[in-house]
Amino acid sequence: TSRLRLYGPDLDADGPRRLTLVSELRTAVLDGALEVHVQPQAALASGRIAGVEALVRWQHPSLGPIGPDEFIPVAERSGLIGPLTSQVLDASLAACATWQAGGHDLAVAVNLSTRSLHEADLVEHVARLLACHGVAAEKLTLEVTEGSVMVDPTRSVAVLRRLRDLGVRLSVDDFGTGYSSLSYLQRLPVQEVKIDRSFVAALHSGAENVAIVRAIITLGRNLGLEVVAEGVEDQATWDLLTSLDCDLVQGWHLARAMPIDDLLPWLAARTVQ
Ligand code: C2E
Ligand code: CA
Ligand code: CA
Ligand code: CA
Repeated sequence: TSRLRLYGPDLDADGPRRLTLVSELRTAVLDGALEVHVQPQAALASGRIAGVEALVRWQHPSLGPIGPDEFIPVAERSGLIGPLTSQVLDASLAACATWQAGGHDLAVAVNLSTRSLHEADLVEHVARLLACHGVAAEKLTLEVTEGSVMVDPTRSVAVLRRLRDLGVRLSVDDFGTGYSSLSYLQRLPVQEVKIDRSFVAALHSGAENVAIVRAIITLGRNLGLEVVAEGVEDQATWDLLTSLDCDLVQGWHLARAMPIDDLLPWLAARTVQ
C-alpha cells in the first residue's frame, strides 16, 4: 500500500509492518475498534461456569486478525497500553454487570500487562470503573504474570495490595514459566494461580509433567490459593486435572474465546444438554 512507502525502502523486513502496526493500532484504540472476547472457566468439582477471561482481539482492516501476543507488546512500547487496558476493563465490567442483572453470577478476569501494573492511577481507575458499572469488586480478577511483577517487585506488591484492599481478586498468570523462586508466590497478595498452558498441554505426555502440575496444585493449595489450569484441550486432560484436585479449568475442550454477546446463548445451550 502507499502507506508502507512512507517509511522508505531501506528499513529491515520487519520494520514497515511494525511501524504501520503502531499507527494503525493507535487508530484502532482511539476509535474503540478493538473487540473483547471471553473464554469460559469451569469449576471442576461442580462443572459450573464460574466466570470468563477477557481476551482482546484486533481485526485489522487489511491484514486480518492479529493476535494479542503480537500487538500487546506494540501497545506497551507505544504508550497505547493504558487506553487499551482501560477499554478492555470497561467492556468486561459492562458485560459482567449485564450478566449479573440477568441472574448469571459470573466473574470476569482481565489481563494486566507490565506497564498497566505500573500506571500511576491504575487503582483509582479500577475503583472508578467498578463503581460506574455497579460491579462488586470480588467479581473482578486481575491477572498479572510473574515476569511483570519481577520488573519492580516492591512497587508491584504495593499496587497489588491496594487492589486487594479494594476487594479485587488477583491471579498469577502463566505460573511456572518465570524465573522467580516458588517461595515468592507466598509474598504476593494473590488469591489464584494459573498453571501455564505449556505444562497443561504436556500433561498426557509423561509422568514428569504430571509431577510438575501436581506440585503446582499442591503448592497453590497449601498457600490457600485457587488453582486454574489453562489450555485444557481434551477430556483426558480434564479428567487428570480433576483427579489432581485442580479447582478451575479453561481451554478449548470447554470453549474457545467468543464474542461477549455469544456467552449467554452458549451457556443456555450447555445447560440444555
Ligand atoms: P494468556 O493470558 O495466557 O491467555 C491465554 C491464551 O491461550 C489466549 O490466547 C487463549 O485464546 C489461548 N487459549 C485458551 N485455551 C486454549 C487451548 O485450549 N489451547 C490453546 N492452544 N490455546 C488456548 P490469546 O487470546 O491469543 O492471548 C494471548 C496472550 O495475549 C494472553 O495470554 C495475554 O498474555 C495477552 N492478552 C490477551 N488479551 C489481553 C488484554 O486484554 N490485555 C493484556 N495486557 N494482554 C492480553
Ligand atoms: Ca491470562
Ligand atoms: Ca496464561
Ligand atoms: Ca500466555
